[in-house]
Amino acid sequence: MADIAKVLQRADDNLNSSLEKLFELVRIKSISTDPAFKAECRRAGEYLVKALTDIGFDASLRDTPGHPMVVAHHEGASADAPHVLFYGHYDVQPVDPLELWEKDPFDPAVIKEESGREIINGRGTSDDKGQLLTFVEACRAYKEANGSLPVRVSILFEGEEESGSPSLKPFLEANAEELKADFALVCDTGMWDENTPAISSSLRGLVGEEIVVKAASRDLHSGHYGGAAANPIHILADILASMHDKTGTVTIPGFYDGVEETPHNIKESWDKLQSTNDTFLSDIGLSIPAGEKGRSVLELTWARPTAEVNGIKGGYTGEGFKTVIAAQASAKVSFRLVGKQDPAKIRENFRAFVKSRIPEDCSVEFHPHGGSPAIQLPYDSDVLTKAKTALSDEWPKPAVTIGMGGSIPIVGDFQKMLGMDSLLVGYALEDDRIHSPNEKYNLKSYHKGIRSWIRIMAALAK
Ligand SMILES: [Zn+2]
Repeated sequence: MADIAKVLQRADDNLNSSLEKLFELVRIKSISTDPAFKAECRRAGEYLVKALTDIGFDASLRDTPGHPMVVAHHEGASADAPHVLFYGHYDVQPVDPLELWEKDPFDPAVIKEESGREIINGRGTSDDKGQLLTFVEACRAYKEANGSLPVRVSILFEGEEESGSPSLKPFLEANAEELKADFALVCDTGMWDENTPAISSSLRGLVGEEIVVKAASRDLHSGHYGGAAANPIHILADILASMHDKTGTVTIPGFYDGVEETPHNIKESWDKLQSTNDTFLSDIGLSIPAGEKGRSVLELTWARPTAEVNGIKGGYTGEGFKTVIAAQASAKVSFRLVGKQDPAKIRENFRAFVKSRIPEDCSVEFHPHGGSPAIQLPYDSDVLTKAKTALSDEWPKPAVTIGMGGSIPIVGDFQKMLGMDSLLVGYALEDDRIHSPNEKYNLKSYHKGIRSWIRIMAALAK
């Protein structure tokens, strides 16, 4: 049995060299979207291969049509230890506008702010170089203090996350056998706040659909035809308005099939975070929660499905005025899915709902725009429980299980292509300014992040 205290102590002792590693990696300008930095991307991959090889990983750089992948494997202390696949990305966003940076984005340092908080500045410190190195450095401390890792570890670092991951799916497909593990650890996420670690256990799915309502064979003069000819904008507006009833519930038949109520204890833990129920909306100049009545904004955005109109087009919207009855009108509609809602069924039910509201002499066209189911790690899953306890032992406040309103494509890909659940743990903070000038990562996130992974690995091994 590993002596955790010894490993944690090692991580503390290593902190300066762990920081030096982060600085070295941040200095490499691995901007994946700009071809001018192609060699730098490769250099970042090579840097990680070397760092992993140094701590006993069998690590290699794998070429793709784009930037290379880093793949590495490490045996655990025993052959029947759980096997995890850790995912992160070594590429970063461009830095412009450069003049808004207070310091050189590629010359990181620890800076003490007036509040006393210490931060590490630089592009990629939070997204995602700092985050991925918390795990690498946890492995290093484990290896140095204990001679081995408590779990079997595989690692996948990609270099194209910030430019749409074009090589990822083909790579997963071609290397599925090698990359499949018991579950994945994905670090591209954040804490609830500076003292409260979070595990994201659900991600909403998405269905996109464009509808085009067609009425007359051409645009009409409203003086000649108004009152007699069907107006597709009216028909469309009526359809869109009838998607919700007065309580915010979606009225499309079968829409809630596969939606389960969030367990009471989870809702309660979210209520405790509810200082945000006001701040969530006031930040954007609003105060009244829309959507289904009687549910908190956290529940609405993490655990409830939505039907949203994202755009409407039709008729004359230019300067001046035109008394026209348009021949057609269109809208883009999207659905955020939760639980076991089936994207194909949602699309089918929506289309039937629309068709039933189209007059006999009019028609409708549908154009699909992608669909993916929600991801949900069961709230009582063993892995989730262990990770939660481990995180709670490290941070001032107990860990919370949260949801994510949007999706992280890699999590869906792991699920679909490798049949693997993901545990989403990261130490980024709201104010890390990722993708923006003056990106930073808190020193505390980095240090305690390393310590957290040590605790999580130990807990998973039990
Ligand atoms: Zn990013």
